[in-house]
Amino acid sequence: MATLARRLPANVPGALFVDSSCIDCGACRWIAPASFDLVGSQSRVHAQPRDALQRARAAEALLSCPTASIGVARASGTAADDAADDAPPLHREVVAAAGRFPRPFAPRALHCGFHREASFGATSWLLLRPAGNVLIDVPRFTAPLVRRLEQQGGVRWLFLTHRDDVDGHAQFAAHFGCERLLHRGDHGAATAGVERLLDGDAPIELDDDLVALPTPGHTRGSTCLLARTPAGADPAIAPPLLFSGDHLAWDDATARPYGFRDACWHSWPQLIESTRRLVAHPFEWLLPGHGAPGRAPAAEMAARLRGAIAEMEQER
Ligand code: SF4
Repeated sequence: MATLARRLPANVPGALFVDSSCIDCGACRWIAPASFDLVGSQSRVHAQPRDALQRARAAEALLSCPTASIGVARASGTAADDAADDAPPLHREVVAAAGRFPRPFAPRALHCGFHREASFGATSWLLLRPAGNVLIDVPRFTAPLVRRLEQQGGVRWLFLTHRDDVDGHAQFAAHFGCERLLHRGDHGAATAGVERLLDGDAPIELDDDLVALPTPGHTRGSTCLLARTPAGADPAIAPPLLFSGDHLAWDDATARPYGFRDACWHSWPQLIESTRRLVAHPFEWLLPGHGAPGRAPAAEMAARLRGAIAEMEQER
């Protein structure tokens, strides 16, 4: 729970604040960029949320924070702070946001919120499909979210993109009776109960509209999930989506994917090679485990991937 005693001095005056327990996972900054930014190695509130949308996003960020480092308090510690913020506290918005997750984000893809500390605040996504929903990586097992997942039709598959983001998988599997999928390269004691292990580096067809794309690099078993446009669907309404885990993230400044050079635990050359293979698989949305999602028409996305590869080559 965020506490005023640990309120970071970099926060602007007002009720919303970040405290010193922030681990710099970045979740608040992509969920509510109008309110949060980075100073040094921790997030802070750079502007108090004002309009309804900013307040809703700030409340979603608060609930998503894996370390509960975001707080709301009427009294922020000084008279000047209180005078600077005459907006009502966010409590009503926080309650509303708790009932909104998983919230629609991209066509067929919902942001689950409630990020976990053990996965360093990784994003979990829900892919809606008539043939059975797919939960990508693991959010916190909280009653409001679980209830809403049930209302969305439950979870048929739990797709684990890599070993870092598996914490809590058994609890979701036990509750939803879903099949868990993970690449054998990342299988270990923590994932002993996983039902389906994926092998090799070639694409693995899971269903007509779903393919697992092994992308070793960040870890040996890192695997992306490609959700193609379902047969008969209009690509404008159901564009192809790539859930990339920690293989690739999206840089909003350059509108280009990138790999985590400093957090590449297995092999940077393999990560580059895996990215090269991704170019053959069209997608319009990049939905990563960390940071903001990205979107571009498929041909444009492929061009940006090639640009990212050229840049990553220079970091060899
Ligand atoms: S979501 Fe929480 S832990 Fe992550 S950067 Fe924001 S305040 Fe820090």
